[in-house]
Amino acid sequence: MKIGFYGGVETVTGSNFVLEEDNEKIVVDCGLIQKERTCDLENFAPFPYDPKEISAIFITHAHLDHIGRLPKIIKNGFKGYIYSTLPTKELAYEILKDALKVIEENCREYNKEVFYEERDIEITMKRWETVNYYEPIETKNFKITFYNAGHILGSSFLLINEKSSNKKIVFSGDLGNKFKSLDKKLDELPAVDYLVLESTYGDRDHENLEKRREILERIVERTIKEKRVLIIPTFALERSQEIIYDLQELIENKKIPEIKIFLDSPLALRISKIYEKYPEYLNEEAKHEILTKGIFKGPYLEIIESKEDEKKIFDYPNPKIILAGSGMVTGGRIIDILKRYVENEKTTILFIGYQAENSTGRKILEGEKEIVLEDKVYKVKAEILSLLSYSAHLDKSGIIDWLNPQRLNLKTIFLTHGDKQAKESLKIEIMDKLAVNTIIPKGNEIYEI
Ligand SMILES: [Zn+2]
Repeated sequence: MKIGFYGGVETVTGSNFVLEEDNEKIVVDCGLIQKERTCDLENFAPFPYDPKEISAIFITHAHLDHIGRLPKIIKNGFKGYIYSTLPTKELAYEILKDALKVIEENCREYNKEVFYEERDIEITMKRWETVNYYEPIETKNFKITFYNAGHILGSSFLLINEKSSNKKIVFSGDLGNKFKSLDKKLDELPAVDYLVLESTYGDRDHENLEKRREILERIVERTIKEKRVLIIPTFALERSQEIIYDLQELIENKKIPEIKIFLDSPLALRISKIYEKYPEYLNEEAKHEILTKGIFKGPYLEIIESKEDEKKIFDYPNPKIILAGSGMVTGGRIIDILKRYVENEKTTILFIGYQAENSTGRKILEGEKEIVLEDKVYKVKAEILSLLSYSAHLDKSGIIDWLNPQRLNLKTIFLTHGDKQAKESLKIEIMDKLAVNTIIPKGNEIYEI
């Protein structure tokens, strides 16, 4: 059996792997390559394999860096079916449609023709089958089982058995941390020989995982006391739902006074409706809350759909909380918000997610005093805070704990989906603590296992 590492290898985006046995090739994830722009120029390159030769595609979860090139692979000749959980398929539809607007914008900047259109997304959906967790499906040479990855709604890691040799390989997709407010806990790692493992936070532990709601509480209390504006750059998928859920819990349980919360993201609204539709995929507490009260509870929460309505946010007096995307300040409504508030000392910007290298979010977080928003320079006078324990990813200790029960079965771990430093640090940790052979593959490398 061969594994090809074609994307999400040297960076955290563009996940794309090919598993091959006896002339059958299957793909795991087919993500968009995102660097400084949502859609990097590399996405225009042809796939390094012939899409016509792929028999099926398996999707771990609906983040754009795992699904964004699906319409392209179909356009380029893939003839088979795509498989994922039901929520992943529905979320993917919203994410792909929304991304297309940004991709078109990026293509205009590159002076290139857009590599797929709305109708390609519709075709993609028609070729997409859904599966349940723990119910294996079979192709000619492989048996594939989806397990809960606890990362976002419907997220999965995949156990793939090669039928003739019974070799087992797991593709982790992205793994969720243990203390998420909405998701069920990540499933245990089943018996496995090989593992393709994400390492986004492989070089660090999240601080205050259990205490994050209390820390959020203190930040909001100070926002109210000092009449500040609290801005939280969030991704529309999962982080928005999670932070709103926690803010509402704090208000409903009278831990903080009512405060106006604006969610400046029509996409987050559409995605929240999908969360509301599938509460059985969430943990018991979140499921109960959503079934009894819905995902949005109080009149203090206002969703801004059209850009013209952003005026409502600007006109509303402090204190207030504003959530807007993108989470790494690489585009979207957060730009309007920061243009308005970043030069004000009464502003607090709270980062709750991973900030990729070269993103504006990373620059602000690292303390740069001047940033560029839509070609204009702005002075950063806002207070900058981070609460990365809201990360949707498992941290270093979490990864080691997850691997530990399988340390004697695991023959090789392939580290992907992380900065160089994160992968190298995690490799040392795995070798030291678990003594499992660990490889950091390069882009386009193929390994025989
Ligand atoms: Zn993800």
